[in-house]
Amino acid sequence: MRFIDSHCHLDFAEFADKTSQQIADAASFGIEKLIVPGVSLAQCKRLIDFQQVYSCCHIAFGLHPYFLTPDSRQEMAQLVDLATRHRERLVAIGECGIDSQCADLPLQQAIFTDHIQLANMLELPLIVHHRQSHHLIAQSFKQTKPKFGGVIHAFSGSRQQAQYYVNLGFKLGLGGTITYPRAKKTRDVVSALPLSSFVIETDAPSMPVFGYQGQINTPARLMDVFKHVCQLRSEPKEEIALSLYASSCELFSI
Ligand SMILES: [Zn+2]
Repeated sequence: MRFIDSHCHLDFAEFADKTSQQIADAASFGIEKLIVPGVSLAQCKRLIDFQQVYSCCHIAFGLHPYFLTPDSRQEMAQLVDLATRHRERLVAIGECGIDSQCADLPLQQAIFTDHIQLANMLELPLIVHHRQSHHLIAQSFKQTKPKFGGVIHAFSGSRQQAQYYVNLGFKLGLGGTITYPRAKKTRDVVSALPLSSFVIETDAPSMPVFGYQGQINTPARLMDVFKHVCQLRSEPKEEIALSLYASSCELFSI
């Protein structure tokens, strides 16, 4: 079976000199490709070199809500320029979105809309971060419709919310959340929607899977996420793996 970690931050300091080891560990489980999103302007610039060294990684450019500052409007203009110049290296725009735990929601919404417009202009999908913000994301999508779909990263929410995104051409990124028994609502979504609605991800080094709280998450833990998806689905695991792999390839055109 082959796998893709559709969202991990392998370029973060937590992995420093262990990047090659992490990739080798992941590959030993059949995890062949990894998507590494952008979070800040400076880090997006570094991702260009990162991707040249680690060719199994595919990259995206974005400003994560967590990293927004008063300079972000100006940085966004620079990001548009950077993304346009490096369009051929990108598989998506993001990670971007709205996080209700982060400050300045009006700024977040404005910057998110800029990302949607950029994705539409470059004909790329979006990697969307959400936290208690489905209603705000829906508002942004109503105002500026994403034309090339994307992924709702670390999806958690109801069946109705899930269906809304799938109808808009989005995949739902399943990660550590679904491994926790308390995430009943989200686990129900995994059982109920068509298998083609999902991709899997780790968000490493964040979002530890159940049983590994307090530890640094790694791409190899994608296998725990996969195990939980299999428990929640009725199809044979080979069929599930094939669908998840194909959905990531289709989404990111890789
Ligand atoms: Zn992330």
